[in-house]
Amino acid sequence: MSFSELGLHEAILRAVREQGYETPTPIQRQAIPAVLDGGDLLAGAQTGTGKTAGFTLPILQRLIDTPARKPGRIRTLILAPTRELAAQVEESVRVYSRYLKLSSMVMFGGVGMQPQVDRLRKPLDILVACPGRLLDHAGQGTVDLSGVEILVLDEADRMLDMGFIHDIRRVLKLLPSKRQNLLFSATFSDEIKALAEGLLDKPALIEV
Ligand code: AMP
Repeated sequence: MSFSELGLHEAILRAVREQGYETPTPIQRQAIPAVLDGGDLLAGAQTGTGKTAGFTLPILQRLIDTPARKPGRIRTLILAPTRELAAQVEESVRVYSRYLKLSSMVMFGGVGMQPQVDRLRKPLDILVACPGRLLDHAGQGTVDLSGVEILVLDEADRMLDMGFIHDIRRVLKLLPSKRQNLLFSATFSDEIKALAEGLLDKPALIEV
């Protein structure tokens, strides 16, 4: 199977080709159609499996195919446990969206708030964030999550291991209730299962 058979737009395929990817990985073969379908997804996947492109590519396609519910507001929120992962995911978003008119930003703590506040004032399609700093902005009223249509929890098990469960629950309360939810985790503890149960509506299940 090829990326073009997965029904991705030429502008996305071009960026993928330029990365030198020839065929989709197993997680991509399963996740791309599931995300394009618009439903929730529960995916068991380690890093190194190509999971980032597995959710990013179909998200980009959905963003260009559907008009924004609230134009100018953040449409996709990707939560990640660490700065390194958040930065990596946002870099992937940039690479894959090179030929699209979409904007992204990465947000984590340990750096100044003001440059982030300035960036948040401009239109933004995709925000990749660590939960703590996102809540700092929410508390100050400098981020507006009322237009989020797609939520991704990346490496959810690591987020829980790092004690982010309360932060995640607080973030969830700031999101519109009608949205697509994607949860990626390498392991499935009872805590992850409980989170998934509360968050996901009849999710497609993928394990690689
Ligand atoms: P990830 O699991 O998302 O961290 O991706 C692991 C690595 O695999 C990254 O360096 C990607 O650039 C690379 N990658 C992702 N998808 C493919 C693919 N279909 N073919 C070859 N390499 C890929």
